[in-house]
Amino acid sequence: MSKIGVHSFVWSAGSSRDDLERALNRTHELGYKLIEFSYLDPRQVDVAWLAGRIRELGLDVAISMGLPPEGDISSDDAAVVARGEEILDKAVALTRDLGGTKLAGILSSAHGKQERALTRQAWDTSVSALSKVADRARTTGVTLNLEIVNRFESNMLNTAAQGMAYIADTGASNVFLHLDTFHMNIEEADVGLAIRHAADKIGYVHIGESHRGYLGTGSIDFPAIFDALVAIGWNDYVTFESFSSAIVDKDLSLKTAIWRDLWKDNVALARHAREFITLGLQTAQLKADLVKQAHLPS
Ligand code: MN
Repeated sequence: MSKIGVHSFVWSAGSSRDDLERALNRTHELGYKLIEFSYLDPRQVDVAWLAGRIRELGLDVAISMGLPPEGDISSDDAAVVARGEEILDKAVALTRDLGGTKLAGILSSAHGKQERALTRQAWDTSVSALSKVADRARTTGVTLNLEIVNRFESNMLNTAAQGMAYIADTGASNVFLHLDTFHMNIEEADVGLAIRHAADKIGYVHIGESHRGYLGTGSIDFPAIFDALVAIGWNDYVTFESFSSAIVDKDLSLKTAIWRDLWKDNVALARHAREFITLGLQTAQLKADLVKQAHLPS
């Protein structure tokens, strides 16, 4: 059975001690097992304190991020690529220092709408840089999970199949896919089939609705997704990700085009999401069990 996580931006985009403490407590109180933070700057956040609080509450932690344009590892400017590698190394270190094992998000290119198609050279440059980061990450026990995002947020990895090709090119065993139902709903021919096809390489999963609000109130076929996760025997994390203009991160809210307040009460939202995912996965498991039963006369 999968374990359920929540993105900290459901609680707050702030990184003050009060913001973090509230996010941790809400996560714990509502029965989530993992909290995902967007990259936190160790110069502004007491990492040892935060790691201690995560441990005390018995939570797991993941870190996610999107590379900025000035750290785009697919760039033809070597200095920009070097900067990107540095950013990724720091994120790996932060993940390790918080007691986590997964770095996720848009790690292979800049996060944001691009004005031109990706070139072969950009792909190769990114693969080469990420391979080096993966090599250095090996001793930390932190895996790199490449988020597959829609066309408006990257021009590189928009489908799981592209991500699998990229991982194959790195030749690294600690690089996986980070799949997100919101993005897959836009780009994949069939989300359930894509999950089954990529099964061996999935490292992390985001569960989000088509408008990024309440699960089940948009157009995503969640039963098909839960069926696929059960079918591949997924027993790792699925993390609820939802954004509303009620909580603004000046960088991420703009890049992900969060213009509407799809919710205001984040406690009600998170409680609903955990129940929705739990029930969805349980139901998928019941279906999987049921089709195996022959129900012969006794
Ligand atoms: Mn996501």
